[in-house]
Amino acid sequence: MLGFDVKETRVSIIKAIRGMNDVLPEQSWQWQILEQNIGYLFASYGYQQIRMPIVESTSLFKRGIGEVTDIVEKEMYSFDDRNGEGLTLRPEGTASCVRAVLEHGLSYNQTAKLWYQGPMFRYERPQKGRYRQFHQIGVEAFGIAGPEIEAELILMTARLWAEWGLSQHLVLQINSLGSSQARAAYRQALVDYLQPLKEQLDEDSQRRLSTNPLRILDSKVAQTQALLAEAPKLHDFLDDESKAEFAELLRILDQCGQPYEINDSLVRGLDYYNKTVFEWVTDRLGAQGTVCAGGRYDGLVPQLGGKPTPAAGFAMGVERLLLLLNEIQAFDPAWGRTCDLYLVAVGDEAQKQQAFFAENLRNQLPGCRLMQNLGGGSLKSQLKRADKSGARIAIILGESEVQSKTASLKPLRIDAEQQTLAWAELPNAIIDLLEQ
Ligand code: ATP
Ligand code: MG
Repeated sequence: MLGFDVKETRVSIIKAIRGMNDVLPEQSWQWQILEQNIGYLFASYGYQQIRMPIVESTSLFKRGIGEVTDIVEKEMYSFDDRNGEGLTLRPEGTASCVRAVLEHGLSYNQTAKLWYQGPMFRYERPQKGRYRQFHQIGVEAFGIAGPEIEAELILMTARLWAEWGLSQHLVLQINSLGSSQARAAYRQALVDYLQPLKEQLDEDSQRRLSTNPLRILDSKVAQTQALLAEAPKLHDFLDDESKAEFAELLRILDQCGQPYEINDSLVRGLDYYNKTVFEWVTDRLGAQGTVCAGGRYDGLVPQLGGKPTPAAGFAMGVERLLLLLNEIQAFDPAWGRTCDLYLVAVGDEAQKQQAFFAENLRNQLPGCRLMQNLGGGSLKSQLKRADKSGARIAIILGESEVQSKTASLKPLRIDAEQQTLAWAELPNAIIDLLEQ
């Protein structure tokens, strides 16, 4: 007898970090389908995938995103490498992508149209649609000035929404921030207007008044919004070039039948945007309603040491997109079925033969998902597992079938007779059944 209580000495389970989620098999098939579909769509517009590292120098984000943004001030996972180098788990993809483009000369005397996907990390309060490790799919286009590329980015995303039945659930909000000079002039005017009212602003906005005043515009606090009603308006400060380009973008969207809402207080949280900014927003996900966001950021490439290069892009939050897709039941559960055929092998001889038998079937039915019953069991218990697997057909191999080189096909989801066939006849019969 053991001298101690096994239960009491069991070590505790280590759990995942708060806000960092596992994607379990019951969900992962949705991720795969979505990512594959998006990859094909982007390729059809001439975008190529780039894969950047998840860890970068902290200075990249400080310089790229801006020292006084929410992300850099309080959301980054930063740490010192063993040799003392300051590193950060990337909070977004744009700065990394620009770094890679510069490092490898991808936009040198040419345009580059790139997309990426993967995890991003931000120390935020976890809630529905907001996590500490989340995933973005992003697109960046370098070397193209003017509204045509902005229109392409928007219309490409609109096509994705249309393909998934999301068009009526996502509104395109759009705005122009103007040239960086126009933006700076407006910033000054806004500060001049708000400074005397500072005491009446919410705490966050008071802080932002000296750090990032444009962000006050998208404050969620009602009293702050009320004060902003009389504030100077961004569109009155726009330079002529930005105005003309914005008008041309809207013309293209009109011509292509793409609805939009001009939102004069849309400024985006990051420092690097100029001219066009946009967001796709849904009312189906509560407070975390922005599914996709982007715009033009001509200043970022020079800010990171490159020569002046026009650039525009966007990023969508994969978790929010999946929440929305499930909200409207866009996924057919049948797409998540992991198995078409379940091989039931009863008795010693059948079990000995089943790997060989299954491999032959796999050769003859490429792409077909065949799961073997491993670990034996009675006919009844194996058929139970076959049913649980989601398979549409159970293939039964027993002692007598092995003797006569036959197998029985038992349809599990349709009302059809079980049939016993010679091995050579199986592939065609299976295809017939699967097509029903
Ligand atoms: P928010 O205003 O919701 O915080 P943001 O302006 O910080 O968004 P971006 O940096 O523009 O977001 O990122 C683009 C998209 O990535 C967002 O529109 C959203 O869909 C998604 N996203 C951003 N932060 C998170 C997060 N913490 N968890 C899940 N998705 C996120
Ligand atoms: Mg944020």
